[in-house]
Amino acid sequence: MSISLKGVAVITGASAGIGAVYADRLARRGYDLILVARNEARLDQLATRLEDATGRTVKTVVADLRNKADLKRIETIIATDPAITMLVNNAGVGGLEPLLHSDVDAMEMVDLNVTALMRLTYAAAPALVARGGGAIINIASVVAIAPEVLNGVYGGTKAFVLALGQSLQKELTDKNVRIQTVLPGATATNFWDAAGGALDNLPSNIVMTSDDLVNAALAGFDQGEVVSIPSLPDAADWANYEAARQKLIPNLSLNSVPARYRIAAAA
Ligand code: NAP
Repeated sequence: MSISLKGVAVITGASAGIGAVYADRLARRGYDLILVARNEARLDQLATRLEDATGRTVKTVVADLRNKADLKRIETIIATDPAITMLVNNAGVGGLEPLLHSDVDAMEMVDLNVTALMRLTYAAAPALVARGGGAIINIASVVAIAPEVLNGVYGGTKAFVLALGQSLQKELTDKNVRIQTVLPGATATNFWDAAGGALDNLPSNIVMTSDDLVNAALAGFDQGEVVSIPSLPDAADWANYEAARQKLIPNLSLNSVPARYRIAAAA
């Protein structure tokens, strides 16, 4: 094994699904890895396979990112290990049922999808700036822009991830730190079982494999995309959506009330 010239990538939720595919692809691209999740056996199995296949160094850290002490340990690793050049904030859980049919206790997804991702991003951004560069890849979802499709709180957590990335991109663009936000559509992983649904209930033409999803997202990363939507056939559709958003910005805070909101003065 040799020291990686690319540095070390930290991947959360690496024990399965999309995160495990990121681990494979980034090791093959020459990154050493730190894999984070709760299931120690699955992490160790993946680490051994990837070390054998790629010769890279793959460490594992067992952590429940909803647990404050565990989360703090990962924050400290990211902030203090000078070899870390990339963070893939992938760990996340979802909800499928609408608000009126779901329990608020199931909305603890906010702790993982929002709080953990935010705290790890906070640990990574200044550290990467101080190290002279790096990248943060945040896994959101298409429900960030289509929150009507699944549970609204899940959509809200992913809209948070998208907004955070848009803001950080502006803040870090001249500091050699890249932010990519990935918006997967339905992807064939355990996510659906964990969220209380069944992948088999979805039409097969809307479900991508995790291999295709990660390959496409990394192609978007290579092309310098800030937001990547692996399913979207025509990139111009996102560009137009983004252009419409940019067009709104100068008019979102003004000192005058437009005519449609003016209440007629009492006679
Ligand atoms: P998955 O197969 O269920 O994998 C989720 C990963 O997160 C697992 O490695 C799991 O490992 C880890 N994880 C869950 N809770 C955790 C916790 N409390 N602390 C640490 N790690 C935890 O699902 P996936 O589809 O790959 O999901 C990855 C990301 O893609 C999520 O952010 C999800 O919202 C997003 N996404 C998925 C889809 C889809 O259709 N699959 C679509 C859009 C977006 P352990 O159980 O070992 O902890």
